Amino acid sequence: MKRPPGNLTYIGARMVDSKRQRIILLGSGPALASATRDNTSFVLDSPAGSLLIDCGGGPFHKLLRTGVDPACLKGVLLTHAHPDHIYGLPSLVHELWLFGRREPFHIYSNGHTQQVATALLDTFQLWNTPVPLELHLLPDEEKFLVLENELYLVHTSPVKHLVPTVAVRVTSRGSGRAAVFSADTGPCRELVSLASGADLLFQECAEEEPHQFHCAPQQVGEMAAEAGVAEVILVHCHPNLLKEPYLTISEIRKQYHGSVRFGEDFDVYEL
Ligand SMILES: [Zn+2]
Ligand SMILES: [Zn+2]
Repeated sequence: MKRPPGNLTYIGARMVDSKRQRIILLGSGPALASATRDNTSFVLDSPAGSLLIDCGGGPFHKLLRTGVDPACLKGVLLTHAHPDHIYGLPSLVHELWLFGRREPFHIYSNGHTQQVATALLDTFQLWNTPVPLELHLLPDEEKFLVLENELYLVHTSPVKHLVPTVAVRVTSRGSGRAAVFSADTGPCRELVSLASGADLLFQECAEEEPHQFHCAPQQVGEMAAEAGVAEVILVHCHPNLLKEPYLTISEIRKQYHGSVRFGEDFDVYEL
């Protein structure tokens, strides 16, 4: 058999890049889900260990559905403690236990989110299962290095929302590509700085008119232009903006001249 070039290896009949990393949208909707859009969450799928970003409903099922091995999941990074971003956590820990996991499961969050996550896990008595849970506190610090390994780096910065919230930047060591998730936030310098020069900006757009703690299309355009990102993928959008996608995109494009599109549940992006 001819050897494949570079990082490519044969697994069964499939040729797989052993360093291939993907971001999969497990949900693309706002706090009020729809028939086609669940609450926004992601998984970073990497041979160095996968990482969930936020934890909406049925995370275990969604990992299986997208072909991500739950055994390779290192942990979850929770951006903030609103229900649409955190309510799947007890279910995930419970299913990892039933799945036979005995490896530590890491939970990264700021202090407020950690309190809520702890209370949720207390309620369901999930501390004394065979799954060791390890909590990691994200300080109120810009571009904080959350974790790094041979294939990727993860940084967070506090952003401007109704409760303490972090935005997330994932950088691939191999390709050098970077993806940022705004989390829920109004326009802020911290997000522009974290997203600076990113290839992908997964940006919330939960309001129709300019807002302090969420973003409207005009504000998305201003921030994306200032940050100089290559592509904006809209997630967590107000339902009315989804009804008029061309109007929404043209509003953003008044300020920002890169690529803009709406994310869809189960979209896959190469990192
Ligand atoms: Zn939200
Ligand atoms: Zn929120």
